[in-house]
Amino acid sequence: MCGIVGYIGTKNSKEVLINCLKKLEYRGYDSAGIALKNERETQIIKSIGKIINLEDKLNSNNLITANIGIAHTRWSTHGKANETNAHPHCVGKVTLVHNGIIENATTIRNELIDSGITFSSETDTEVVAALLNKYYDGDAISTINKTITRLTGSYALGILFEDDNNLYAIRKDSPLVIGIGEKEYFIASDITAIINYTNNYILLDDDEIVTLSNDNIEISKAGTIINKEILTTDLKSEEDNKGEYDHYMLKEIMEEPILLENLFQKYITNFSLLPDLSDYEEIHIVACGSALYAGMIGKVLLEEKANIKVICETASEYRYKKTVYDRKTLVILISQSGETADTIASMRKVNKQNIDTLAIVNVKTSTMARESKFKLFIEAGVEIAVATTKAYLLQVATLSLLSYKAIINKSPVTNSTLIKEIKILPELLKEILTKREIYQKIAQVIYNNEHAFFIGRKMDYALSLEGSLKLKEISYIHSEAYQAGELKHGTISLINDNIPVIAIISDSTIKEKTLSNIEEIKSRGAKIILISNEEITDYDLTITIPKVNEILQPLLIAPCLQLIAYEVAKLRECDIDKPRNLAKSVTVE
Ligand code: GLU
Repeated sequence: MCGIVGYIGTKNSKEVLINCLKKLEYRGYDSAGIALKNERETQIIKSIGKIINLEDKLNSNNLITANIGIAHTRWSTHGKANETNAHPHCVGKVTLVHNGIIENATTIRNELIDSGITFSSETDTEVVAALLNKYYDGDAISTINKTITRLTGSYALGILFEDDNNLYAIRKDSPLVIGIGEKEYFIASDITAIINYTNNYILLDDDEIVTLSNDNIEISKAGTIINKEILTTDLKSEEDNKGEYDHYMLKEIMEEPILLENLFQKYITNFSLLPDLSDYEEIHIVACGSALYAGMIGKVLLEEKANIKVICETASEYRYKKTVYDRKTLVILISQSGETADTIASMRKVNKQNIDTLAIVNVKTSTMARESKFKLFIEAGVEIAVATTKAYLLQVATLSLLSYKAIINKSPVTNSTLIKEIKILPELLKEILTKREIYQKIAQVIYNNEHAFFIGRKMDYALSLEGSLKLKEISYIHSEAYQAGELKHGTISLINDNIPVIAIISDSTIKEKTLSNIEEIKSRGAKIILISNEEITDYDLTITIPKVNEILQPLLIAPCLQLIAYEVAKLRECDIDKPRNLAKSVTVE
């Protein structure tokens, strides 16, 4: 979702800001803009579409010499994706960029219109700029403090005042980090934007205002100065290039075997890092999108292996619904970025009720990592492709590890067989990934269709949901996932000649049931693509994967689904790493 960067220092701010902004492209956006500032003036340039369009515009303009500036990639929430609505927004003496949603923007806008102020954009952001400008009395900090008392919703703001040479920033419920360089400072939506310049950063908490000048940083909250710890990231800038691959998505899929190996190594050699679920009578798994589908696999595994009742819920629903915690409950919240707005809100709701929370996240500096009682890091490194692959797989692997601990607690004798399988799993996965031809062949069958279906039962259904999501996200083919037994209760009317149906069978106890469902669909003309851990060759196209313990099996199936989606999107010449309308980390609700 939107990217914010800001710079103050001795370098040419345009160069720095564009370099940093490009690092945030992966978050997803529809327009971009920049404000350059020196002691005399502020210059704003905006464009719709990709950053390259903004660069073209910058190149054809006479730019001011500037060492201060803010820049933005917008993922519109209020108003069309056009140049007027793109950030930065300027009202009077104030220029700002914003990530988030101001929920009471309409009320404030109407109030300001009544007092004679006119607006040029449809955004909620311009309302903040207008309010800051209205309250501005030469004292930036008190102006910002006064303004935020009027705002409800979420915001990360980078702010410049015309007659003041500092860069200001503040956040609430939207991510923002402060980079500390040599005689230079940065603000950024995430640390990856600035790692080419500095590894040192500060995490801002809600409503802390940072004032950055050339050679000083000051943080305050409600008028009181605060000392914050300077942290250092070990992220390397070379982690975010494509290397030999055409797309980040493919690169990230190919990283899966080594990442799995490292994750297993980390937790199995240090078992105490994994919380003991036998302390709990009920588990809730709460997440959005792919993380939710990872959670659904976790539900099947934990119920069957740990004998614990598990409820798996979408975070955007969980945060608002009434939840009764009448048994000792652990709430597991899953998010790659750890900044997913709905998942954070769910976590805060649970924390307030003193129920234990466990965050399964990738970004160690994230809000969820900081605010949850327990945390497990999936160690995926930087994931650039908007459609998640390696992070999803490692979320599933983390849930597999939790099930593993539950199994071992109950029956230590199974340990050695399982450990053997865990050790060879990355090798097995590597082999699966090298068979590119089969995925290409399957893609040939799918890519010309406008519809596709995925079916499976239990865990295979959860995998189907993710396979289907992956396909629609990046190839724009309409796709739906169904529990194999459910399709005939209505949706089978959509099955006609050659419609691709991807069926998954990995659970031998219900194999025959799913096979019957496949027959029902096949007899109505569907083209069956089967993924199974048993040799079944009766269908048009089959992928047979090695049979492993149930807790590890999804780790061999999900990558096949990811590669199918990838190859289809490639044939359809889609923008695989940056699908339309999607954002990487969904920081608004
Ligand atoms: N709500 C603001 C807008 O629509 C900010 C969106 C964003 O976070 O990119 O302009």
